[in-house]
Amino acid sequence: MSYHLQKRRGRFGVIIAATAALFLASCAAPTDQAAPPSTSFSPTASAPSTVSPVTVPGLATPSSSSEAPAPSPSPEPTTSAEEPIVEPETVIADTPEPQDTTEPAQPEPQEPAQTEDQQPAASGGGRVVVIDPGHNGANGANPDIINALVDAGFGQTKPCNTTGTATDDGYPEHVFTWGVATRLQSLLQARGFTVVMTRDSDDGVGPCVNKRAAIGNNAGAAAVVSIHGDGDDASARGFYVMTAEQAPAGAAMAAQSDGLAGDMRDALENAGLSASNHLGSAGLWKRNDLAGLNLSTRPTVMIEMGNMRNSADAALMSSSSGQQQMAQGLAAGVGAYLGAG
Ligand code: ZN
Repeated sequence: MSYHLQKRRGRFGVIIAATAALFLASCAAPTDQAAPPSTSFSPTASAPSTVSPVTVPGLATPSSSSEAPAPSPSPEPTTSAEEPIVEPETVIADTPEPQDTTEPAQPEPQEPAQTEDQQPAASGGGRVVVIDPGHNGANGANPDIINALVDAGFGQTKPCNTTGTATDDGYPEHVFTWGVATRLQSLLQARGFTVVMTRDSDDGVGPCVNKRAAIGNNAGAAAVVSIHGDGDDASARGFYVMTAEQAPAGAAMAAQSDGLAGDMRDALENAGLSASNHLGSAGLWKRNDLAGLNLSTRPTVMIEMGNMRNSADAALMSSSSGQQQMAQGLAAGVGAYLGAG
């Protein structure tokens, strides 16, 4: 998702493109970015800290062969043809209709969890981590749904969701975010965390950005990690970790988000990834225009893992090994923040 491009594109006004164009568009559909009135939102610091996530019957189907795939040097096929990876202890948040019901029934053979991540197992103590894989596979085919404006916090509105960006070779951001998210899910479960995903497959629509934030709030998440890929100029590369500039749940919660952001930045660098060479400062960037941050009352970061329009980043982001490397960095960051490894 190119929040950077989104801002630049704002001067061209609203662009409602055809499906094909939407697919290639930046993940954040153009929308007005008027400065929000600072008094139009009443932050609440009373978010529940012990609310159990909602289990949706029929979605959290246990599977004995559902670990994320091991690193592989070969390019990863689109995950839209795979059975959604669902762990027994995973709670899947509900997603809006329509749902794709034509998924293949045969999951790919999977390998056991990473042995190097077994050491800190159970140190998560069942605490809830919400993983938000940006976008969704059927967003482009449902412009009426995803273009509907929703609350984005602090008096702003945003499209429900967007199609996301893609590499120059056409590898979509939603496939990338799903690949990293499912790998991260396995790694965090191995550390003893309970994982809630904001979507349960890569071939559905949405959920809307405000609902994604609500999923984290309602789950009483100890940490929320939203995963995206940028679509910027070809020379830009590297990740950056974004937090809310306007402290939607008060200064104390904002400080927690800042702590999470710092730990994530450090862990990604320790995993061999480089901070952005053109946006933010040392891999960190506070934003006031992102619904997922503005509406969250939990410790939350939104991370652009790299620039899909940069050839080096694109190669990493579209490979199974690169996604595993990123997931390991993210898992280490969550573990560091929550004192679990
Ligand atoms: Zn995105």
